[in-house]
Amino acid sequence: MDETNLRLDGNALAGALQDIFVQEVTVAHVECAHCGKVEPIGAEHVYMHAPGAVVRCRHCQSLLMVLVKVPTGYRLAFEGCAWIDVRDQV
Ligand SMILES: [Zn+2]
Repeated sequence: MDETNLRLDGNALAGALQDIFVQEVTVAHVECAHCGKVEPIGAEHVYMHAPGAVVRCRHCQSLLMVLVKVPTGYRLAFEGCAWIDVRDQV
């Protein structure tokens, strides 16, 4: 079996991504890729006066994420996040 037998397209993630993005995401924990600190997204520093919202690490001020409202919805960049832990909510 080669790797093409194991490969799916991004549509295979539809259910998981739908589960993630309908939850209260501000309680999700994020690890800063720069300093390694972990905090809930709701505890990080947010600057709303930029073109869009800029989220910075409360410990080292590194860029965590950018959210921009565009005509078709939102554009999100998470380049400063090592990971985001979204837990199931009951
Ligand atoms: Zn940091």
